[in-house]
Amino acid sequence: RAADADAWAEKRLLPSGYPFSEALKFAAENQVKSGLPDIAVSPLQGKFLAVQCTLIKAKNALEFGTLGGYSTIWIASSSPEIKVTSIEYDAHHKKVAEESIANAGLSDRVQVLQGAGLDVLPRVQKEVKEGKREKFDFVFIDADKENNTNYVNGAIEICNPGACIIVDNVGRRGRIAIDEEARTDPRVQGSREVIEAAGKDPRLEATLVQTVGDKGYDGFLLCVLK
Ligand code: SAM
Repeated sequence: RAADADAWAEKRLLPSGYPFSEALKFAAENQVKSGLPDIAVSPLQGKFLAVQCTLIKAKNALEFGTLGGYSTIWIASSSPEIKVTSIEYDAHHKKVAEESIANAGLSDRVQVLQGAGLDVLPRVQKEVKEGKREKFDFVFIDADKENNTNYVNGAIEICNPGACIIVDNVGRRGRIAIDEEARTDPRVQGSREVIEAAGKDPRLEATLVQTVGDKGYDGFLLCVLK
């Protein structure tokens, strides 16, 4: 039923011909055709990211976990000015993402950096500190869930006050509430840790947005940097 509701709402909120619809369709098909796993955000979740960017008038976005560039293109679609830097571990995923980003006409303002998030992040931080890159005002974290908290802490150092930081998949079908699941699944543990850390962090205001839809039951951690 949640998937039916998604399909119903998509027809109303993402009618045919909406901006970037063809590019997003190409990206979704390209990642399937190229053998990437079916783990991108849903269309309405992608639009949720774009709406958040529009709300805060984001100019510079950082993403951890590009996959085939589907969420990346959604973020980039939020404004003709926004620049996006996306970090992806897998070289094949990066190549597929770059094809879809080029097809969307976004190669001039979207950059995919290859490597593990925690290896690439110090380079991005250094470039920001040296003034070679602007600070970020939107961050989407959707890579290895075990490092969620490290990504939030690393991103905070290079974000402007008022930045929006979103961590995907932290609801995990309600499994975050079960101690045994957290003991046995590092992704559940990584989700718990980032929620607990955000709750204690005086630099952040954060809330859990639980989601249902064609991606099942999950949730975003939505944070604003004070
Ligand atoms: N954000 C994408 C979207 O919604 O279209 C989906 C990202 S997918 C859930 C997670 C991606 O993170 C995969 O492409 C995976 O290769 C990448 N990944 C896994 N571990 C990583 C790491 N340590 N650093 C950077 N990327 C990583």
